[in-house]
Amino acid sequence: MTPQQINTFFATLQAANPHPVTELEYTSVFELLAAVLLSAQATDVGVNKATRRLFPVANTPQAILALGQDGLEGYIKTIGLYRSKARHLMETCRILVEQHGGQVPRTREALEALPGVGRKTANVVLNVAFGEPTMAVDTHIFRVSNRTGLAPGKTPLAVELQLLRRVPEPYRVDSHHWLILHGRYICQARKPLCWQCAVARCCDFQPKTAAPR
Ligand code: SF4
Repeated sequence: MTPQQINTFFATLQAANPHPVTELEYTSVFELLAAVLLSAQATDVGVNKATRRLFPVANTPQAILALGQDGLEGYIKTIGLYRSKARHLMETCRILVEQHGGQVPRTREALEALPGVGRKTANVVLNVAFGEPTMAVDTHIFRVSNRTGLAPGKTPLAVELQLLRRVPEPYRVDSHHWLILHGRYICQARKPLCWQCAVARCCDFQPKTAAPR
């Protein structure tokens, strides 16, 4: 994709959805961190289902710790890998209380030091909670970036660094939401819905998928 095409690509996605938001439900930075931590290899819909029961009961590090491992597992056992996620979340809560006054830290270094929080989770929290222009490269962003020619790369980190170089500054904060939603609903893994794609004219992918007859 040329710089001109990249500009048109994001201008088009922005016009269709000026204020994109994450589909994970949260009402505080801590809830966001917990929801993202629980969402690894799970759908946002599945995580929301569990956190709708968990957060009204416990939505602070102290309250999660008070539930205990077994109590927490009871709320999240519909989510894949719930045992290890519960362990990570408990340990993360302990560190937040002991080292950060019960608050979610704002730096990548401190976030990535939390159990169960990798680069992608830190990028989501930095972007969604703190408005930083980070790129949390998930499976959708990785696929769309490579398939369209927007930011090709062999690893999520390579794609992330390419996106940071190639996405024009005005679109940088919101771009990861647009790319996730575009990948989830239009540029789908098995068969991209090119015939109904608003950015088809600036995408390198060939041949485009034809409309079903
Ligand atoms: S034209 Fe097809 S491959 Fe390109 S972004 Fe749209 S859906 Fe994806």
